[in-house]
Amino acid sequence: HHVRHREGWIEVICGGMFSGKSEELIRRVRRARIAKQKVEVFKPAIDDRYHPEAVTSHNGVHTAAVPVRSAKAIMEQVTDDVNVVAIDEVQFFEDEIVDVCQQLADRGVRVICAGLDQDFRGRPFGPTPTLLALAEYVTKLQAICVKCGGPAGRTQRLVNGKPASSEEPVIQVGAKEQYEARCRHCHEVVE
Ligand code: ADP
Ligand code: ZN
Repeated sequence: HHVRHREGWIEVICGGMFSGKSEELIRRVRRARIAKQKVEVFKPAIDDRYHPEAVTSHNGVHTAAVPVRSAKAIMEQVTDDVNVVAIDEVQFFEDEIVDVCQQLADRGVRVICAGLDQDFRGRPFGPTPTLLALAEYVTKLQAICVKCGGPAGRTQRLVNGKPASSEEPVIQVGAKEQYEARCRHCHEVVE
């Protein structure tokens, strides 16, 4: 005889900006659909800006996604027979996203979260660290450091061309800012 295992777990894809998190999330979503799984993709609507209804990677690949204002909205919108729930930019959700992922996984859903594990100061970012601890599977991706070409785990924030100060808010709407992939050694934070 054989014992059938039960479905439902959490996968987290983390790393800095440009490390390929969205690319990897889209790849997993595409493969799940090839396997005839019912997949629903969500992303946070963080402010009043226009939110295209898609997850798009810096390399151009994209997949349709539902922008939601809260983690609770994911619970309200997932369908009962969903097999896979994918959530991009998971760092922007409130801590309640952790419970949402746990509940979905407990009831048999494969939950795939992608998000930044560190903010621009190199500190653990929002709910991602907790999700890393609770997940069954964790993939940590590295980008390429734009300064030295080494593996880049950090995200450099530049405000008006200069390294951002640690005092500046993590989410700053409207500033002239830019982000770069950098390694630990090339990453700069103005105290
Ligand atoms: P993330 O979701 O982690 O920000 P994306 O999936 O959006 O990453 O983008 C990954 C793509 O970004 C790579 O496949 C590559 O084409 C492009 N890219 C641009 N700059 C870099 C960099 N410094 N290091 C690695 N990839 C980069
Ligand atoms: Zn470097």
